[in-house]
Amino acid sequence: MNNAQTNPWIARSLKSVWHPCTQMKQHETVPLVPVHRGQGAWLFDTDGKRYLDAISSWWVNLFGHANPRINAALKAQLDQLEHAMLAGFTHEPVVELSERLSALTGQALGHCFYASDGASAVEIALKMSFHAWRNAGKSDKQEFVCLRGSYHGETIGALAVTDVALFRDAYGPLLRNAHVIASPDARLARDGETAAEVAQWAANRLENLLQQRAGNIAAIIVEPLVQCATGFAMHDSAYLQMLRALCDRYQVHLIADEIAVGCGRTGTFFACEQAGIWPDFVCLSKGISGGYLPLSLVMTRDDIYQTFYSADVTRGFLHSHSYTGNPLACRAALATLDIFEQDDVLAANRERATRITQALQPLAAHPKVRHFRQRGMIWAFDAVIEDPAEAASFSRRFFTSALEHELLLRPIGNTVYLMPPFILSDDEISLLASRTQAVFEQVMQA
Ligand SMILES: *Cc1c(COP(=O)(O)O)cnc(C)c1O
Repeated sequence: MNNAQTNPWIARSLKSVWHPCTQMKQHETVPLVPVHRGQGAWLFDTDGKRYLDAISSWWVNLFGHANPRINAALKAQLDQLEHAMLAGFTHEPVVELSERLSALTGQALGHCFYASDGASAVEIALKMSFHAWRNAGKSDKQEFVCLRGSYHGETIGALAVTDVALFRDAYGPLLRNAHVIASPDARLARDGETAAEVAQWAANRLENLLQQRAGNIAAIIVEPLVQCATGFAMHDSAYLQMLRALCDRYQVHLIADEIAVGCGRTGTFFACEQAGIWPDFVCLSKGISGGYLPLSLVMTRDDIYQTFYSADVTRGFLHSHSYTGNPLACRAALATLDIFEQDDVLAANRERATRITQALQPLAAHPKVRHFRQRGMIWAFDAVIEDPAEAASFSRRFFTSALEHELLLRPIGNTVYLMPPFILSDDEISLLASRTQAVFEQVMQA
């Protein structure tokens, strides 16, 4: 499997590239895949071997690699304007994208602020919330609330509202503590309890905190419907309605981090739509550019925007990134929105998701599978593993076996998840389901 001897790119990469989210020493045993090109749902390595990109290249790709329509839009944009600063200047792609995204919220969130990566969008939402309260004369509101198992990115501010020990513990001394409240994770249901009851229970915990601290709390940040990075914890949409009501009652902002769950991933364009609510801030990134270019943004309401609007410079939101509103990235996003409209992607995905769920039924019924769950174009299940050593190596062994079966899959702990691009054909669906099962059985036997 490991073609390190024959492929010069692997050795050269391990010498000079520090790979993300990786203990580099593990590459002594885990293969590094030298990817050469992409086509549709497939990635091809330098030896011509193919891998079905069943996790959309870290949840970013929506319409396949080398998508002809996004490629064409980008090539045209490249000859027009590759980049210009967004302070004091504006351009057609950023205006059009802002207008179209605002329209998708029915103008509820009418102001778009841009950055490049997801963590920066989270930083922006946190800073904006704090600053909006300060501008409104409530400068005591300085604290943030996040959920147990939350993930909002790995820069210092975003990590402060992230509750994943592996990412957080080493940097604890650098972080400002946030309030961590119960997750509405439906897996926490006790005998006979429904997901809605878990949601109610978790919302009650939040209310207890707000009763005591609301005067000091600026915002609560949540990943609506699915807490992806923590192992695809899914919750009832009623939780978001309860959050909205509590935030209104106790005067706290609601930040929806839709970086992973937005852009149609959970079945609606914004995950919050399934609860019939709008947050005060929504963060988008990952899928927004179709998986092509780094682009993130924060959308907010007019009354929040108005607290910054003043003759006083220091009341303004003095935050910037060099590539803010990059025209190429915005053009990729516009091409992505065009595909959503022209192909009625959300409706097509509902049928595609039904077929994928059906194809996964044998796996869902496997005696070593627990909590098989699905939301939109996300599937996840937990492997039942007794032996702690086997559990600890499960993810790595699964990844390696998946590559041997032409699949790109990277479990989180003992949670296997599928997050494919929105273009799988029926043949690709059968292949994905049968190979995932074969990999699972091989890894569980070892
Ligand atoms: C990926 C992710 C982020 C961080 O985005 P980056 O672009 O990796 O910085 C933040 N929040 C959620 C929910 C994510 O899935």
